[in-house]
Amino acid sequence: LKSPYHGGHLEVIVGPMFSGKSEELIRRITRSVIARQNVQVFKPALDDRYHHSAVASHAGRTVAALAVRSAQDIRAHLSGEDALLRGDSPATPDVVGIDEVQFFDAGVVPLVLELADSGVRVILAGLDMDFRAEPFGCIPELLARAESVEKLTAICTVCGAPATRSQRLIGGAPARFDDPVVLVGALESYEARCRVHHVVLD
Ligand code: ADP
Repeated sequence: LKSPYHGGHLEVIVGPMFSGKSEELIRRITRSVIARQNVQVFKPALDDRYHHSAVASHAGRTVAALAVRSAQDIRAHLSGEDALLRGDSPATPDVVGIDEVQFFDAGVVPLVLELADSGVRVILAGLDMDFRAEPFGCIPELLARAESVEKLTAICTVCGAPATRSQRLIGGAPARFDDPVVLVGALESYEARCRVHHVVLD
């Protein structure tokens, strides 16, 4: 169960939607718990307050996680600054996991580097590309700085080939490049697709 790295380090798990990123994060976190390490997992909060939650895979496995609004929330929690949350977990865990890391602000990069430098095993999971197949937020920098990168594939819903991209559908039709990220009232869905079957309308 020991990590192959000496001391703190950064592991990044990427891929499109449905590629098993959350499953892989849960697998690694579960093994750390079995090894009796102190673990703290974070994920972005969709609402404006942070709360106890869980990372869940599409297949239904879960691990406890704290939903937070920003990288600063993670920093405050780990340093014990937040009196409300103090006592939830040891101030400095052995392992820090972050799911959906592409949704965090740029402050997440210096934070995870500081954690790794101070001896923490950091495991990140997130989308490497957005629905347009453009690199997503601070993921490129995290990939460059990581000790370990795992790029997972899903299964293309059209042809069954390995899928590397997330197809955004609005009312069943491919989304446009400049469609707003949040569409009020529209029926929106996502599918895993390969390069050939991934469509972005101009
Ligand atoms: P991610 O975090 O990358 O979105 P999850 O770990 O939540 O992925 O879910 C992965 C699971 O989703 C797979 O093990 C499988 O059971 C299911 N799944 C549903 N659709 C697909 C697909 N098109 N390709 C691969 N897995 C899929």
